Amino acid sequence: MPRSTPTPRSTNPDADPAPDPLVQQVGAGLFKLGLALRTHAWRENGPRGLTPTQAQVLALLHASAVPLRLSAVADGLAVTLPTASDAVKALVAKGFVEKTRADDDGRAIALTLTALGQDEARRGESGPEFVAAVVDALTPDEQAAFLRSLTKMVHTLQERGDIAPARMCVSCQFFRPWAHPEDGERPHHCAFVDAPFGDRALRLDCPDYLQEIDDVAEARFRRFEKTPSDGDLTAPRCAGAP
Ligand code: SF4
Repeated sequence: MPRSTPTPRSTNPDADPAPDPLVQQVGAGLFKLGLALRTHAWRENGPRGLTPTQAQVLALLHASAVPLRLSAVADGLAVTLPTASDAVKALVAKGFVEKTRADDDGRAIALTLTALGQDEARRGESGPEFVAAVVDALTPDEQAAFLRSLTKMVHTLQERGDIAPARMCVSCQFFRPWAHPEDGERPHHCAFVDAPFGDRALRLDCPDYLQEIDDVAEARFRRFEKTPSDGDLTAPRCAGAP
């Protein structure tokens, strides 16, 4: 028998407003994605004798050009200091991480990978490939829209203090949203490489990123949020925009 379209259960006007079914479904979908990623991480890292947090510490240190302090590791993974400390202790005991003196403060400790840790971090680089295979199933337009949505979601998580600031375009000094509104493919501009780009090329972790001051970044993000159908893309204009 064909199923009818689901309808809200209560029609009582005094009842709490029913949660938006679309929001609920998106939440359920994201939860399933998170579950799949965690399962993949356990499958990959379990045989290597690593917990997901230990694997993330290795990946973070591997991606960093400089040794990191424990607080930077905790911030980078959005975990507490004791959680980061436990993971680092285990990695030091396994010979993957070593403690050195911080360059900018001889009394402070910084963390870096040993040669063994570098090898281990490289072995664990299948996470992004696992996600890439899933994203590959989307059309190019869907991928661009998904990346734009992810950018907004990460920005919201940052605003709420749920995750550490990411090195992403929308808070970067070089980002000029809608600098080329006439160009449907590449409406934004990166002042670092001095080139236009579109939503498909938005970065969530860019090595050339330079953090913008908060007020300007916020105005820039509000401008990025607009679309051509919103009309006025020229205001507020960001300082230094081309
Ligand atoms: S430097 Fe990187 S983060 Fe900044 S706008 Fe250019 S691509 Fe985006």
